[in-house]
Amino acid sequence: MYKRLAALALGLALLCGCGAAAQPQKETETVQAAQEMRSTEFFAMDTVMSVRACGADEALLAQAEALVLSLEEELSTTREGSAVYTLDHEGHAELSERAAYLLGRALALCAETDGALDVSVYPVVRAWGFTTADGSYRVPDAAELDALLQNVDYTRVLLDGTEASVPEGMEIDLGAVTKGYTGDLLTALLRESGVESALLDLGGNVQTVGCKPDGSNWRVGVKDPAGEGLLGALAVADKAVVTSGGYERYFTDDAGTLYWHIMDPRSGCPARNGLISVTVVGDEGLYCDALSTALFVMGTEDAIAFWRAHRDFDMVLVTEDGRLLLTPALAERFTPADALRYETAVIADA
Ligand code: AMP
Ligand code: MG
Repeated sequence: MYKRLAALALGLALLCGCGAAAQPQKETETVQAAQEMRSTEFFAMDTVMSVRACGADEALLAQAEALVLSLEEELSTTREGSAVYTLDHEGHAELSERAAYLLGRALALCAETDGALDVSVYPVVRAWGFTTADGSYRVPDAAELDALLQNVDYTRVLLDGTEASVPEGMEIDLGAVTKGYTGDLLTALLRESGVESALLDLGGNVQTVGCKPDGSNWRVGVKDPAGEGLLGALAVADKAVVTSGGYERYFTDDAGTLYWHIMDPRSGCPARNGLISVTVVGDEGLYCDALSTALFVMGTEDAIAFWRAHRDFDMVLVTEDGRLLLTPALAERFTPADALRYETAVIADA
């Protein structure tokens, strides 16, 4: 009945590779520049991921991939035996330290965003058909959504140390924060192994370790949510750059109405609050990932108010009415694409 128009698309594109070092001045730079950039690519968490790290050997890259796969094993909602699967099916589960940490942080961010992020919205996401890869999308009716919303309430998820439980009928999903957290753990692994320059592309989530081997910033392309190309590029070092966009997974009904995978937990419907993509730039992948989803749900005005109240991240908002809004610190870091069709503006400080 419904046309399946798109599956996954990457929100961010990497504009540059490792590149040879340009005339390093200091001895430390010379050492780093002489090291080779090695990379690996693999499929995990429903997307293609790549890790490029200066000075990494094959064993470290294999360790990085194994880390991602082990996180997927623990956090997947669909793999029988994962901690999250057990929690959702049995109502309680003993989590690993890191899964408990992620759930604890996610619950705190649900509260911080006043429920725009809600880890218990999963049954609603499934009712719309977004949890399977087969594109069996549908528009649930109001009665069905009302019934499902009775069990959407992150405040009823209990976490005591590593013991988690949810009430009957509730199911959680950490999909809105898992890739960001994965990026943080990968970054820590690489740093502990002596890597000072790396670029991680986790499908819509980019994380950078240090700067490029030549000492310049990484340039991370941000996808145009309404087209094939890029909005532009962000110059960053040591940052996470995470995008949530309606274009990543969506379908249209016979009347041409568009429905996407980011849900407003209050209505049980795809969040249509004025934004078509949100890119968050900050120090921590987990935080950026939680916020990109939550700010998308909040909509333009509330996202700006949230930024003004917090100011511990930067963002690029793209609105349904064709505007591109940047926080002030990104004004100099963002290079728009040629012939950018959005009206660009810097968000006022207050
Ligand atoms: P992201 O791509 O990080 O924005 O995460 C989107 C994914 O998180 C969706 O595919 C859903 O599985 C889940 N999700 C959708 N809406 C919400 C929400 N309001 N709060 C938490 N998770 C959500
Ligand atoms: Mg997210």
